[in-house]
Amino acid sequence: MLHITGTAASAGLAVGTVKRIYRASTGLTRVVLDFPREKALFEAAVLLAKDELAELEQRAGAQDKDIFLFQRVMLDDQGLLREINQAITEGLGGAAAVEKAAEIYSQRMRSIDNEYLRERASDILDACQRVVNILDGRPRDILKLDQPAIIASDEIYPSDLVSVEKGLILGIVTSAGSSQGHAAIISRTMGIPAIVQAGEKFLQLCDGETAALDGFSGELFLNPDEPTKARFLHRIRLKERQEHKLEKLKKARCVTPTGQEVSLMANCSCPEDIELAMSKGADGVGLLRSEFMLMAGKMLTEQEQYEFYVNCLKAAGGKPVTVRTFDIGADKEVEGISHTEDNPALGLRGIRLCLARKDLLETQLSALFRAAKYGNLKIMFPMIATAEELKLALAVVEQVKAQLRQKNISFTENIPIGTMIETPAAALLAEQLAPLCSFFSIGTNDLTQYAHAADRVNPLVADYYPTFSPAVNMLIEMTLRAAEKNGIPVSVCGESAANSALAQHYVSMGIHTLSMAAVSLLEVKEFLMEEPEE
Ligand code: PEP
Ligand code: MG
Repeated sequence: MLHITGTAASAGLAVGTVKRIYRASTGLTRVVLDFPREKALFEAAVLLAKDELAELEQRAGAQDKDIFLFQRVMLDDQGLLREINQAITEGLGGAAAVEKAAEIYSQRMRSIDNEYLRERASDILDACQRVVNILDGRPRDILKLDQPAIIASDEIYPSDLVSVEKGLILGIVTSAGSSQGHAAIISRTMGIPAIVQAGEKFLQLCDGETAALDGFSGELFLNPDEPTKARFLHRIRLKERQEHKLEKLKKARCVTPTGQEVSLMANCSCPEDIELAMSKGADGVGLLRSEFMLMAGKMLTEQEQYEFYVNCLKAAGGKPVTVRTFDIGADKEVEGISHTEDNPALGLRGIRLCLARKDLLETQLSALFRAAKYGNLKIMFPMIATAEELKLALAVVEQVKAQLRQKNISFTENIPIGTMIETPAAALLAEQLAPLCSFFSIGTNDLTQYAHAADRVNPLVADYYPTFSPAVNMLIEMTLRAAEKNGIPVSVCGESAANSALAQHYVSMGIHTLSMAAVSLLEVKEFLMEEPEE
């Protein structure tokens, strides 16, 4: 038995036969045509590869679509294409030119001082490998499995994973790779246990052998002895039982042992996220981060936004969808809209930016009011600090409604409008804000950042950004008192709602709607429904 510790990249356990994937590069051996024909062949192969990537993008889950989109965009990258064309002109065959350029380009990416870009190097290799395969007439889906296996290679590419039938990949081991790479991200989305950085020794010995893989700890056993194998199989059975239990929980209403019903909503950013949330039994969308639709750097027209919201409402199938108006600024930069500021978290962000750029807010609200008839829509404003700001935002609402009336455009008159409580000022002034709106939604991410003066994205002050804060708790209590006095509901939509213990704490405080990432819904539901131990 060989025991290796790599880096855990996707949680889960697997025991099975290992299939090693060899990636020989054969582009170098092809017969080379004259270079105009070689270029034409190369261009046709790129077109075909882009079609295939578009298809993979369609098939991929919501979180993974971007990966194939990125690969497709890379195949249009002028720098890369120039490099390939240059190599062909110098006499290389199309496939060899692609391999050479891909290597140069990915090496260049790997040396960039930016982790995200470094991780994208393997996407370039993956996309280029697709083009090489087409040029060489090799089967496009390199990975073919006829029975379940743990797959091992120097690196696994995203397209390896989505091209194999579900359930056939038991686990993934790579000798190199990284836990932030896209293959690791996809394996997490697909629930396939994975270990990266397992080293060369494993790779050399593994093909056809049995392995036990622990994607929680990063441990790997090649040819495990009987007790190790039995231990793994026992843990896998326990996990399956747990998953079965969670599956049943999807349909159950969340009721605490004391009989309190709790609505568990999801934080989403697009219709695909909402579909995923619905499949996990979400009671609705407690926070739709609408600014994410602009992050591709393109401003959407009112009609495009309208269609986006209609799709969101339809995906929720009649369950409530709370759309937060654009919270642009700070860590959510939008090219052409957000400003470069010395202190962006305290800058022109959220409602402040929308009040400075009323055209943005007007367009968004108009699209929302028109789309509302397709579902159960609520709207809320981010980063409110004073009653004056809320009044100004509400005045824009009335103005948009008046314009729609004037133009005889059909829209829903009465949409509940709420305020996010995510600045300490909003919590302190909650008594003034409550009579002006229909609900409060507490954004604990920012409320903690501003209450503790600790930048939420700065790792240097991570220790100053507490998970539970008595100070934030006092601000929440104030918010609750003001809401109760004015008869409006309060929810929590910050990350803290996904922490089961904190979720339980919020429920005990009287907050009966919690919104969180879809992946946490069932775990929190199970915890809230559990009888306390004696
Ligand atoms: C929050 O601040 O808690 C919140 C939910 O908003 P965001 O994380 O999008 O700033
Ligand atoms: Mg916030």
